Amino acid sequence: MRKLSKKTETFTDSIIRRMTRIAIEHGAVNLSQGFPDFNPPKAILDRLSEVAHTGPHQYAITWGAPNFRAALAKKFEHFTGHAVDPETEIVTVCGSTEAMMTAMMTVTNPGDKVIIFSPFYENYGADTILCGADPIYVPLIPPDFHFDPDVLEAAFKQNPAALVLCNPSNPAGKVFTEEELKIIADLAVKYDTFVLTDEVYEHIVYKPYRHNYIANIPGMWERTLACNSLSKTYSITGWRLGYVTSSPEVIDVARKVHDFLTVGAAAPLMEAVIPGLEFPDSYYEELLATYTGKKELFLNGLDRLGIAHTDPHAAYYVMLDISEYGYEDDVEFCYKLAEHVGVAAVPGSSFFKEPVNHLVRLHFAKTDETLYDALDKLENIKKMHDVKNSPWRL
Ligand code: GLN
Repeated sequence: MRKLSKKTETFTDSIIRRMTRIAIEHGAVNLSQGFPDFNPPKAILDRLSEVAHTGPHQYAITWGAPNFRAALAKKFEHFTGHAVDPETEIVTVCGSTEAMMTAMMTVTNPGDKVIIFSPFYENYGADTILCGADPIYVPLIPPDFHFDPDVLEAAFKQNPAALVLCNPSNPAGKVFTEEELKIIADLAVKYDTFVLTDEVYEHIVYKPYRHNYIANIPGMWERTLACNSLSKTYSITGWRLGYVTSSPEVIDVARKVHDFLTVGAAAPLMEAVIPGLEFPDSYYEELLATYTGKKELFLNGLDRLGIAHTDPHAAYYVMLDISEYGYEDDVEFCYKLAEHVGVAAVPGSSFFKEPVNHLVRLHFAKTDETLYDALDKLENIKKMHDVKNSPWRL
């Protein structure tokens, strides 16, 4: 057989999504791939059942149904304070996964460089490679995951086409401060670099932290491709609805890329989610209150079990320190954890460029019952020592 694509030899399938398959295989509580096990808001579901009968069921306009784009633009302006023209400044796509790929293909050429902060959501590395570009990793240093501005500038000096900014960040739970965003923006302007944001957790930022949109910094709208999705905000990760916003010049190209990648997001789902986009502020306050409660429940539970962990300021991920359980390989640890303890986690090494093997990521976007069940099971995490290279002895 002829050789297959060389590019694909440099990365594996997504470990996050592989862990979901492993969770299913072992019947483990799945706290790996971040998605809720509770229903989307009723108003969206009610509209979905109407739309099942009324349609639309055929292709929408490639860049998104006009009424969906109009509703998105309204919500966008409400939260960012920046008016966006739904006719020229938005392209709607299949989830933030496509948003990021579209954005990356819009601004890069083969051989270009792309700055990625590490730890990072694993798609960014694969997206960069699939574009024929080369990632430059800049560390976010724990425990607060700050970056060294000199190290960042050294990366900018390599003439990157783009920087990827996951803010609020997955998996670190970091919210970039206004000062940090200003440093990034100044460097992006100085070195004429695009910024591709992933802001899917914009509404899950714990008090007193606040989300700031880098595109709002003067001079940044034209060079920011803001990628986002409706998955986390409305608990509809399976609907695959995402979007990119930027200047008309950039969106014009992004629309071409999207047009040939996927043609369009699902027409009935764009229609059904519109009531969600029109929710009042109280919806977002309740969403945050719900996740604040889940964060407290889960992190207090981990504390009671004596498991060391990060304290996220945003999103719904927490990293556990597994160094005391005797494993050098966090992937092996996660496989065994799913099989023997009954909880699925994501190996931390899949997020880091650096050789980090002592962390695993769990998420708490689950019902309280599921979280209690996971905590009950995690009581056995200390017995992971016994599992290593030996028959299971719990
Ligand atoms: N963002 C989610 C996570 O980090 C997964 C999203 C996906 O698999 N597309 O777990």
